[in-house]
Amino acid sequence: MAQARLRGVVALDGPSGTGKSTVSKRLAAVLGATYLDTGAMYRAVTLAVLRAGVDPADSAEVTRIARAADLGMGTDPLAPAVRLDGADAEPEIRGPEVTGAVSAVSAVPEVRELLVAMQRELIGRAMTEPGGMVVEGRDIGTVVVPDAGLKVYLTASADARAQRRTAQDASDGRRSDLSSTHADVQRRDSLDSGRKVAPLRQADDAVELDSTDLDIAGVLEQLSKLVESRGLLVGAR
Ligand code: C5P
Repeated sequence: MAQARLRGVVALDGPSGTGKSTVSKRLAAVLGATYLDTGAMYRAVTLAVLRAGVDPADSAEVTRIARAADLGMGTDPLAPAVRLDGADAEPEIRGPEVTGAVSAVSAVPEVRELLVAMQRELIGRAMTEPGGMVVEGRDIGTVVVPDAGLKVYLTASADARAQRRTAQDASDGRRSDLSSTHADVQRRDSLDSGRKVAPLRQADDAVELDSTDLDIAGVLEQLSKLVESRGLLVGAR
């Protein structure tokens, strides 16, 4: 029996700590698709800004750094690599300094314009190969790929999200505690939802999936059903 593969784009948006990255990577791997972590791109630009000693609130300087940064995105869901100026930028882009500054950097319209163009190019290139792409972020269904074959808005309660982020930090060897993670998740979501350009919001035609009471396998099962019901599988049976 041939392995069914995804065709087209699955857009996965939602606030932090919903398990978006984990399920996006796994869904892509299971469906023979590529994967794009757009949050990693905003994080890598933020790292460049911090390395240059630039104030993340200084839009003009942030734009200058973003335009000069050499960003490389791997799209293999089993080994998604992020490179900044020729060197691996993981795990630095996941650290507290970048996490604390990324919402300010991602609110700069010129940064978004630059990264959205880059994202569309990567997605366009992926569409010329067999297998689709799972793209995760905050504005994928609303701005980056408004005609995606499936748009999912992944949510979870604030408590569940803070718990997941804390567990993720611990497993990645970063120090964090529940109450400060809770505060950070809330702060970031309010900044991301309140910004003028491409705020975090559910696309009108996105399916909302609440993962509060679901484990990863449960979310994957729901996503797989949605993909199939949209006719986005090729080579099945
Ligand atoms: O998904 P992740 O938590 O890595 O995203 C980091 C930040 O990047 C978000 O808090 C948000 O400010 C920004 N982001 C964005 N648009 C996207 C993806 C991420 O503004 N498509």
